[in-house]
Amino acid sequence: MAIHFISDLHLADDTPALNQLFLDTLAAWRGRIDALYILGDLFEYWVGDDDDSPYLDAPLAALREFAAATPLFVMRGNRDFLLGAGFEARSGAKLLEDPTLIEAYGQRILLSHGDALCTDDAAYQQFRAMSRNPQWQQAMLAKPLAERHAIARHARAQSEMNKRQTGLTAISDVTETAVRELLAAHRWPTLIHGHTHRPAHHRHDASSRWVIQDWHEASGGCLLLDDAGIRVLPLGR
Ligand code: MN
Repeated sequence: MAIHFISDLHLADDTPALNQLFLDTLAAWRGRIDALYILGDLFEYWVGDDDDSPYLDAPLAALREFAAATPLFVMRGNRDFLLGAGFEARSGAKLLEDPTLIEAYGQRILLSHGDALCTDDAAYQQFRAMSRNPQWQQAMLAKPLAERHAIARHARAQSEMNKRQTGLTAISDVTETAVRELLAAHRWPTLIHGHTHRPAHHRHDASSRWVIQDWHEASGGCLLLDDAGIRVLPLGR
């Protein structure tokens, strides 16, 4: 068997092909792998565990069914950082802290979403620090659902506009300094992260770093870990 790692699916109410690929993938893997790790941004946005949007019904039901047969772990990303205990109850998944070190198939593997490593983006790091503050989160979650949805829509539009204007810039990638600090702090494990949408395998001295591919429409990918090591598995068309 094998452990699978995916991230950056960005499921939303207007991504039917993508959502279907996720449902099909869970059905195909259920009971056939050792564990599934979803390393952030499973959802394009998450406005709170009480979100009753109808598009969430199918993926949450599929996650629950999957988790009944196969261990399922989810890390928060920079879009779905408000995932909480209510999500765990609705999905059957166990939330992971960022970063989390695991040992599997004789390897020490450090898992992270990756946004904390993009240290050249000072404005984002400032937002990150603020939005991870429990008081800020409490104030956000106390707003009515409709208002939270409006805030999420606004943030999404803003982010789309920034992407169109600046494209993939250097500040949206991880920095070598942040990666080396994180690897050193954990005695140089193998690092797996997503977030940057730049799938690759990088070397850092004796360690290496795998960047998971993001999903888009009807295609995606995963990293697979088994006795033979880590490799890329494409998904969809
Ligand atoms: Mn991300």
